[in-house]
Amino acid sequence: MAASIVTRFAPSPTGFLHLGHAMSALFAWRRAREAGGRFLLRLEDIDAGRCRPDYAAAILEDLAWLGLDWDGEVRVQSEHMVEYRAVLEALSARGLLYPCFCTRAEIAREIAAIGHAPHGADGPLYPGTCRRLSADERATRIARGEAHALRLDTVAAMAATGPLTAEEEDEGTVAVDPASRFGDVVLARKDMPASYHLCVTHDDAVQGVTLVTRGHDLRPATHLHRLLQALMSWPVPRWHHHPLLTGADGKRLAKRDAALSLRALRAAGRSAAEVRALAGFPG
Ligand code: GLU
Repeated sequence: MAASIVTRFAPSPTGFLHLGHAMSALFAWRRAREAGGRFLLRLEDIDAGRCRPDYAAAILEDLAWLGLDWDGEVRVQSEHMVEYRAVLEALSARGLLYPCFCTRAEIAREIAAIGHAPHGADGPLYPGTCRRLSADERATRIARGEAHALRLDTVAAMAATGPLTAEEEDEGTVAVDPASRFGDVVLARKDMPASYHLCVTHDDAVQGVTLVTRGHDLRPATHLHRLLQALMSWPVPRWHHHPLLTGADGKRLAKRDAALSLRALRAAGRSAAEVRALAGFPG
């Protein structure tokens, strides 16, 4: 018997849901329901500075209004920081993480001094400054209490796993190349003990997600997420990245497009069925 499909919708409570979120949620919900599988809801609220409890409550309310139901408890990431720390410790014990003391300004100066930096998914790649520090210097600076992030030594990590592939529903089997997309990506920020990439892959693994669905803006993340899964021996899902909804100006919707928030549409008298149709899911 084929294993049952498990999908999820994983918004961050940093604003009200808009039509683009509705599209993502409906996509994941429908894939699960059509296959008799499970649809999970997770709140990605690790960024304490940007997330708000009232937005979290509004997400649950808006999804229920839209007609979505989810299976089991809502997973709230901020309640699982101990688990993310354990992942960081496991990677660290294998020598795959290093402390990075650089400020943004120092990184920009270093890149300017080199003259160029390869561009990744989120901008110029980190030039590797702190990867070259000696163990003594790292220890001294940590002992002095200098704030530091933790970066993945991506080349060393890929060397540890060997070549990897991922299954993208639209593209088939794709080769995984996180180094050119993310370089030595930050897995724990100075001001935030775990990164989106770390938490999302850990949670998809513990929640048994078999099909990761999300907007095309997050397509590059597959490269890094597949690497983290291999390093941690987590089960490997398939991925589907759907197109993004765009506003009247042709730009993709963002939380700042207040008029297209589900709340605003509802207040303007739109029914849930109409909003589902606007998000691309009529009927
Ligand atoms: N929490 C992420 C966001 O809303 C999405 C995570 C994911 O689907 O992988 O931006």
